[in-house]
Parts: sequence; structure tokens; C-alpha cells
Amino acid sequence: MKFMFLNLSNISVNYAGQSSPAVNQVSFGLPAGDIGVLIGPSGCGKTTLLRAVAGLERIDAGSIKLGGELVSQVGTSVAPEARQVGMVFQDYALFPHLNVGRNVAFGIDHLPSNQRAARVAEVLALVGLADQTSRFPHELSGGQQQRVALARALAPRPRLLLLDEPFSNLDVDLRERLAHEIRGILKAAHTTALFVTHDQLEAFAVGDMIGVMHQGSLHQWDTAYSLYHRPATRFVAEFIGHGVFAPAVIKLVDGEVAVQTPLGDLTDMSECPLPCAFAGGACDVLLRADDIVHDDDAPVKAQILRKAFRGADFLYTLRLATGETVMALVPSHHDHTLGEWIGIRAQVDHVVTFNRDCPKSHDHVCRMPCEHIAASGEVTQPVLWHAQVPSGAARSLGQATT
Ligand code: ATP
Repeated sequence: MKFMFLNLSNISVNYAGQSSPAVNQVSFGLPAGDIGVLIGPSGCGKTTLLRAVAGLERIDAGSIKLGGELVSQVGTSVAPEARQVGMVFQDYALFPHLNVGRNVAFGIDHLPSNQRAARVAEVLALVGLADQTSRFPHELSGGQQQRVALARALAPRPRLLLLDEPFSNLDVDLRERLAHEIRGILKAAHTTALFVTHDQLEAFAVGDMIGVMHQGSLHQWDTAYSLYHRPATRFVAEFIGHGVFAPAVIKLVDGEVAVQTPLGDLTDMSECPLPCAFAGGACDVLLRADDIVHDDDAPVKAQILRKAFRGADFLYTLRLATGETVMALVPSHHDHTLGEWIGIRAQVDHVVTFNRDCPKSHDHVCRMPCEHIAASGEVTQPVLWHAQVPSGAARSLGQATT
């Protein structure tokens, strides 16, 4: 099994006076050199989790290991300064009266001056500011100041770098560009990092692994691709990307799995739960905006309720004659008017389903369907239809949450 340089095992953090934990039984692992991202809405516990890893917050359950060393458990905590963890915050926190070089040198004043100067030059070159050593913070742009803050945090060669919303003071265009740059810088420095953001594009641009948090719980720790295509909970499905849940029935037709949806039958997919995953095959299926294709010849028509221009595409919100609402991303040269009826069909590759009977608020009960069935003893492991295997056969695919 791969060694996890940072390993969190069932950690919880409770603040005095709060009715529910700020962090609730969170577990994940990050291999050395990887960048993990925590994403979720305001107040979901991202910063608290980061502070616990830094040693700034005591944990009330579980354990945290760094480089194999136990740094936090209930009752004991290695001091923050002894963890060799660097931090970058959203407000840069540069010293205004020190120039760039002296700001970066701040954390390495224990080194002999020639080594210190060499390290300052090295990290400033890494962040692309080699020629800015003698400038002062107020003479730099927000993006440059943030890169100085990053250079300062990297200078002491931390074992782990923690970044808390480092771009939130910057404008949107710059944020995505910087996110790509910072990923390049962290990879070049072989730094293991944990990054907090509430911005999906930033998370996708930076992270090797991304954790989606909601109300203190980690719903899924996965790659960006899997979060989007194989969301483990309804919350993840709604938080990452656009889409709706539509009632569906999974059936076996002539040995092939078919999913009956308000948009017609889905047949040509690469992955789908078998009908046995749900009572009578009835479930809710996730229909993403990019799963819905505009096709004038399609028998299913939908009326345009709303449209949002996205440059290359329109995001249309559509209502079917049966009353269901779906969303569709349509190339923006198809500029239809509100109220118009257009032909649509579904083209779904990974069929994502949830138990229809689960109340939406019960995120954890409503994880991937076979887990639920496993609890009742009917099916012991997730069984998915997979188009690449011989007709009628099935095999299990590992799901993030099962
Ligand atoms: P944001 O994106 O808004 O920064 P977050 O996901 O980082 O939010 P946290 O700051 O970790 O969330 O807060 C998680 C929960 O803990 C919130 O309900 C918050 O009100 C609460 N909380 C945070 N810090 C404290 C504190 N020092 N004392 C009491 N409650 C706190």
C-alpha cells in the first residue's frame, strides 16, 4: 500500500459552545509530493481542518500523522513550530518595511548568510521574481505579493505546506492563472501541500486529490475527474458542476442494462449500477448539463425556461412536457429564445444514481446505491454494469465510498 505522508484518521474538532463538530470524523491520506485540496461552502470546516494539521487546533478524536510521525491525537499534540509545516494565508502577511529579499529570508535567519542568500535567490527564481529582490511589498501587484508569500513559506523547506484561500483577494482571471503557476512551483519544489479553497476551478487547477466537505464531514476524497463523473453523494453531485436528479428505472432488456429516464432510455453507457441495486430498479439519475445534447431531430422536446451565456456555450434550463427540469450546455451559436421548444437527448457515459427513497438531507445514507443495499444484506458489494465486459456479465468497480 502506498505510504501516506500526511495521514488523517477519523479526526474531529469540536468548538466549545457549538452544537455540532466543526470537523466530523474526517480521514484521508496524501502521498509525498502530492497536492491535496479541500473544497466546500463557507463554514464547512476547511480552515479548522487545516489548522488542526498545523497544530493550531487540538483534535477531539482520531489522529494525524506527518511523515509517519504521530503529531496529533486526543490529549497530545506536537507544537506547531516543531511540525515543520509552512503556511500561506489569503492576506499575504508580508512585512511592509522589509524588501522582498528580507521578507523571504525571514524564516531562515538561522542559516549562515551565504547559504541564506543562496536559498532566497533560489526560491525567488522558483516563483519567477528573481529580479524583484530589493522592491518593497507596496511596489508589487497582489499576485506578485502572493508569490513572495509562497517563496517565504518555501524557503525553510517545510515538510508540508498549508495554503488557506491564498488567492481570494485576487481577481478571478488572475486566480486561475496563479493556481496553475502555483501548482507548477509546488511540483518543481517537490512540496507536499494541502490547499483550501471554495473555488472549483482553482481546486481543479491545483489539486492531485480533492476533498469535498459539507457541515464538517468529508463526503469524498478523489480526483477531479471522479468527483465530477462518479460523485459519491448527492451533495458532491450538486456542488461540483451543474445538473439535476431525474426519476429513473434501471432494467435488464435482452441481457443489456437500460435506464429509463424522462429523456428516453439510456443504453449505450460504459458504467451503470445493475437493476438489483434498487428496489424495482427505481432510482434518481444524475443528468449533467453536458450529458444533454441539443438535437433538432430528437423526439423529446423541452421548453427553454432560462438561459445563461457562458461564451462558448449557453447553459439552458429546460422543462420537459412531463414537468421535469433539466439543464443543457449548448454551443452558443444555437441562440434560442426563452419559451422556445427544442429537441434534446441524453448522452450519458457514467450513470450516477442515488436511492430515491433517501431524504436529501441524509447525505451519508444516500451514498452510492449498492452500499445501501449491502447494509440490508441483499448485495454484498457494489455491482456495476460495465459495457466493456461480455454481454450480461457484471463486475464490481471500486467506488470511492464503498
Ligand atoms: P470559510 O470558507 O467561510 O472560511 P470554513 O469552511 O473554513 O469556512 P471554518 O472556519 O473551519 O469553515 O468553520 C467551521 C465551523 O466552525 C463554522 O460553523 C464556524 O462558525 C465554526 N468556528 C470556526 N472557528 C471557530 C472558533 N474559534 N470558535 C467557535 N466556532 C468556530
